[in-house]
Amino acid sequence: AILLAIESSCDETSAAVIIDGNVKSNIVSTQEVHQKYGGVVPELASRAHQKNIVPVVDQALQEAGIEKSALDAVAFTKGPGLLGALLVGGSFAKSMAQALNIPLIGVNHMQAHILAHFIEDPKPSFPFLCLTVSGGHTQLVIVHSPLEMEVIGETLDDAVGEAFDKTAKIMGLPYPGGPLIDRYAKEGNPKAYDFPEVSTPGLNFSFSGIKTAFLNFMRKEVQKDPDFLEKNMPDICASIQQTLIEILIKKLKKAAKQHNIRSIAIAGGVSANSGLRERLQAEGEKRGWDVFIPKFEYCTDNAAMIAITAHYQYLAKDFEPLTSSANPRLKFEGTIS
Ligand code: ATP
Ligand code: MG
Ligand code: FE
Repeated sequence: AILLAIESSCDETSAAVIIDGNVKSNIVSTQEVHQKYGGVVPELASRAHQKNIVPVVDQALQEAGIEKSALDAVAFTKGPGLLGALLVGGSFAKSMAQALNIPLIGVNHMQAHILAHFIEDPKPSFPFLCLTVSGGHTQLVIVHSPLEMEVIGETLDDAVGEAFDKTAKIMGLPYPGGPLIDRYAKEGNPKAYDFPEVSTPGLNFSFSGIKTAFLNFMRKEVQKDPDFLEKNMPDICASIQQTLIEILIKKLKKAAKQHNIRSIAIAGGVSANSGLRERLQAEGEKRGWDVFIPKFEYCTDNAAMIAITAHYQYLAKDFEPLTSSANPRLKFEGTIS
């Protein structure tokens, strides 16, 4: 089957074409208007999606060498995400499905982050444990099959991506700050500063305390020395990054042990973090895990991951009525929380 997939849940407008499970094109347009605001401004995101969606879809079809008339279904991100942003992709996909008289497929964005592992080899075998770390989520998920997933732990407050972005904002870095912290951290000493770890029950996470502790730390140090930040950027970034990574790895080890799973994956925007990738690789070697780390282009938001999820839903005839609407808080089926 030939499918077109559209992603518009946050600040990436993206379209991809997939043929029988093989991604043929994946066009991603990242909105730059949010940089100076220190976070995504929902109203500006919707407007940028509206401006970008037609050229992005055209380019995806063109690169794949596919005419609209050849499509067997159109997929879109149904949620979770920003309502106004989701509506742009959703409405576009609906109109297209109706005009072409083909089925519509509604995709869960978090499920898609995980299934990004099935775009290319090596693909994990089932069941596997996935740590999904992104701008809005931090989840531990047992993946039984492409369409059966179970959330066994998640954040009680901020997502780890948010912790990266908010600490970066405190340091005056533009949005998204995660990749910048990653870059500075490479030159720094991760043991230079100590940030307290907040302990959370079971397999859940908490990151809002770290953000507050970081803010207080920065205020105190800058009071002593106004040039503290300029002088110590790499050490500060390496230390905060290390703290966040250790919290993730600790719960990941706990979950793997509790559920007796040795096939471990990471997904979502923060899985692009080089410190996390290296740390997981090392931990995996030590423990004899099979570790799966996504290619960089499939970590942050992209339509290829929506397309591969839609491929499995198409095979299962899991279609969406044309009356369907976006759901900003869409959950997995079978979610425990
Ligand atoms: P969600 O998927 O939860 O709806 P989202 O789609 O906004 O949220 P993603 O696009 O998956 O999130 O990821 C974006 C996040 O990833 C941002 O918080 C960004 O800072 C973070 N990120 C991207 N690259 C890196 C990196 N190298 N190091 C740390 N964080 C990173
Ligand atoms: Mg984004
Ligand atoms: Fe995402």
